[in-house]
Amino acid sequence: MIEFFSPSPLHYDPTINPFINHNINSYTFLNNIENRSICSRCNKSRRFFCYTCYIPVESIKEQIPFIKLPLKIHIIKHPNELSGKSTAVHAALLAPNDVNIYNYPDFPKINAKNKTVLLYPTSDAFTLNDILASYSSINNVHDTEENAFQAIFIDGTWKQANKILRDERLQGLQHVKLNKYQTNFWRYQRRHKNDHLSTIEAIYYFVKEYQQYINNMGLNDLDVNLTKYDNLLFFYAFMHENIRNQYAGKKVIKAWKNQINNA
Ligand SMILES: [Zn+2]
Repeated sequence: MIEFFSPSPLHYDPTINPFINHNINSYTFLNNIENRSICSRCNKSRRFFCYTCYIPVESIKEQIPFIKLPLKIHIIKHPNELSGKSTAVHAALLAPNDVNIYNYPDFPKINAKNKTVLLYPTSDAFTLNDILASYSSINNVHDTEENAFQAIFIDGTWKQANKILRDERLQGLQHVKLNKYQTNFWRYQRRHKNDHLSTIEAIYYFVKEYQQYINNMGLNDLDVNLTKYDNLLFFYAFMHENIRNQYAGKKVIKAWKNQINNA
């Protein structure tokens, strides 16, 4: 059983709490959810959300943020990647109309290859800015709901992702890489370099880069304040805070495992 704490003064220190200057809804109500409930779809016991059905439990459904994204996101998940470990589910919970998760070999329908990109930093990957600039008009990109710009993310370890990358259905797609960002992922000290983003961080930065491009084009009706997307980090910031509070920098690996088991 994880215990939760009220914010300490360190909560307001941006070097300790990297989300303090983000526009993220209050998640303190999550601390009051003490009991697990039954997922309405699969009947499994869950605390906040079902990480196999990608839906929140009934008691928090109306309270979590709802985000409308400017594009469609498809996440292909390796079947061996533990569902509870992945932050990809956060995106599906918070932007349910625009994010879909597929358990490989399930696959998204790709309508137009020229409007679908794959986030993967191969040597021939371009930045999103470069790709969008190659279209004759941003209106051609930012199209109707059915014909929207799509981005595919692969969720899993590098080894798992490389296997999915070889799937013939992904061949011919433009690869895209993000600008450089530092992760706030609490496992990185041990397993990764700090520029290896978690999936939800990658989605967050990708959406912001996309919206920034549209905003720079000066299309007022499509202009959205970038802070609107900070709520993509709603569950991520919550988990980060609880791990900070419980372990104060010690045993981050164990903390993460507890957090998964408690989802
Ligand atoms: Zn379920």
